[in-house]
Amino acid sequence: MDCGLYVVATPIGNFGDMSQRAVDVLQAADLIAAEDTRHSQRLLQHFAVDTPVMAYHDHSDECAQGRIEACLTTGGSVALVSDAGTPLISDPGYRLVRFVQERGFAVRPVPGACAAIAALSVCGLATDRFLFEGFLPARSDARANRLAGLERENVTLIFYEAPHRIEACLQSMVEVLGGEREVVMAREMTKTFETIRRGTLAELAEFVAGDSNQQKGEIVLVVAGKERVEQELGADVAALLSRLAEELPASRAAAVVADCTGLRKKQLYQYLIAMKEDNGRGQV
Ligand code: SAM
Repeated sequence: MDCGLYVVATPIGNFGDMSQRAVDVLQAADLIAAEDTRHSQRLLQHFAVDTPVMAYHDHSDECAQGRIEACLTTGGSVALVSDAGTPLISDPGYRLVRFVQERGFAVRPVPGACAAIAALSVCGLATDRFLFEGFLPARSDARANRLAGLERENVTLIFYEAPHRIEACLQSMVEVLGGEREVVMAREMTKTFETIRRGTLAELAEFVAGDSNQQKGEIVLVVAGKERVEQELGADVAALLSRLAEELPASRAAAVVADCTGLRKKQLYQYLIAMKEDNGRGQV
């Protein structure tokens, strides 16, 4: 096995998702650096891996990094694993990858499960562009601030959330992003109680609040980006609407265009409001 640091993804629940290459790398490595050695033992035993294991997290002392460097310096290989999924994705490893690269050693990916990507793959929302936000702040005011900064993003948003905060998180999202926004909750993916639930934020908040079982386990939320209304209206209608709004109040301009096109007045009006907020002009 070539010398270097191998960043090895492990399953997010179902051991059947472990790749053969991940098993081979863990068995052949000289050392495994694990986020939590006790947690990883179950996986390692299951796959008959008896490679020495040491603890590594991003606040590990120089001694831990020194042990990894010593192994690489003698031509050895080190495998990095986290508790589940892909290391470095809301998990430790970033500092170690930098440390190893800066010393001129190779860092190689052994790809596999990642909860964010698994959720994205089944969400049925736009996947052409997305923003991974990881965990929102635990404090409600900080969480609301973070969400406010994302309110105008028109790409799909991915969040990790702890089960004991899911209810409060959804409530915050309803307040800041609006109850009508589409969302998908991917809970306990690849496990016995896997739940993939889609709805508006208001619907999902109500569903989760009304069933304590939905407040358990591991959860990813995938939230639709702000509607790209202009794309839906078409460039001609958007231009006509904007021009009319220079002569008429927004609600009148929206009503006229709704009459002529059959589009919803509310959607047209919201487009004008959003435009006004965007560029501070328009006769609204
Ligand atoms: N590195 C991991 C990855 O690649 O997805 C993520 C680690 S992060 C500390 C743990 C969070 O990932 C959980 O709180 C949850 O939001 C999400 N997660 C992990 N496994 C999951 C699963 N089976 N179903 C849903 N979400 C999961």
